[in-house]
Amino acid sequence: MSPSETGEASVRVRKEPPPFRQVVVRRVESLSPRMIRVTFTGPDLEGFTVDKPASSVRLLLPSLGEQTLVVPAWNGNEFLLSDGQRPTIRTFTPRRVDPVALELDLDIVVHDGGAASEWVVAAAPGHRAAVSGPGRGYSIDSNASGFLLAGDETAIPAMSQLLEALPDRTPVDVIIEVAHKDARLALPDHRDATVEWCDLPPGVPPGSALITAVRGAHLEQGIRVWGAGEAAAMHRLRRYLFEDRGLARTEATVRGYWKHGRGGEDNGE
Ligand SMILES: Cc1cc2nc3c(=O)[nH]c(=O)nc-3n(C[C@H](O)[C@H](O)[C@H](O)COP(=O)(O)OP(=O)(O)OC[C@H]3O[C@@H](n4cnc5c(N)ncnc54)[C@H](O)[C@@H]3O)c2cc1C
Repeated sequence: MSPSETGEASVRVRKEPPPFRQVVVRRVESLSPRMIRVTFTGPDLEGFTVDKPASSVRLLLPSLGEQTLVVPAWNGNEFLLSDGQRPTIRTFTPRRVDPVALELDLDIVVHDGGAASEWVVAAAPGHRAAVSGPGRGYSIDSNASGFLLAGDETAIPAMSQLLEALPDRTPVDVIIEVAHKDARLALPDHRDATVEWCDLPPGVPPGSALITAVRGAHLEQGIRVWGAGEAAAMHRLRRYLFEDRGLARTEATVRGYWKHGRGGEDNGE
């Protein structure tokens, strides 16, 4: 009998993420008016390595208005504080890890009304946080004929890592949608990359300009696509790639990084 037939509540059990490592802010650097790099350090970063580009870490922040950091417990499904409240946890790309200096850089988009965004704007050396990870990264197919990287501002750190990791003789097209002209950043060099920045007009759903640009891109046989951005936009991108263009599931990796109008930990896909 299923739990619903027996009247028992069905409890979803998920694999417990790696334990939180406590860190402090060592440096804060403004990369653009829309992106802040925060460098964390601390002895807990001993042994923290990331072996694939475009992977992820969970960042635990003090609850709103609090200075102290309380590490939550895993209840089999989610992290909860001892009073039952949800802690402030968000997902970011581990942009740079230095296992010798015990440093971790996260590049965080500044936008309206986000807990992590507000935290990073006020971040200063000595502020406390914790990280758990890394989560799955991207496996590069070295036989691909070319790559298309398509994403919004939140995907700039991952796309930068990909540009550093992709084979330098394979052509790469990069399409980046920005909600603000000031969000443009210098990207790592790749000898065969073209970069197209597209502006999201005000009042238009996120991802609209990105998808229009992807529709205009040449997708030759053997290409691999990596995409990340707002979840509904990524759903549309997947439909375009798999249904309209007939790509095989193995040829495109497309991840929702945030949900328009909904904050919180599980806002990615
Ligand atoms: C695997 C993965 C890697 C990621 N890497 C990065 C990264 O390196 N850098 C990065 O900045 N983000 C990254 N993100 C996205 C980030 O987790 C979300 O943008 C997150 O919601 C930000 O948290 P917040 O507390 O600032 O906003 P929230 O409190 O979660 O959201 C509050 C409101 O802001 C909106 N919102 C959230 N993000 C944005 C945005 N970027 N622009 C406009 N509105 C937004 C939400 O829809 C909501 O209405 C990644 C996500 C995943 C899943």
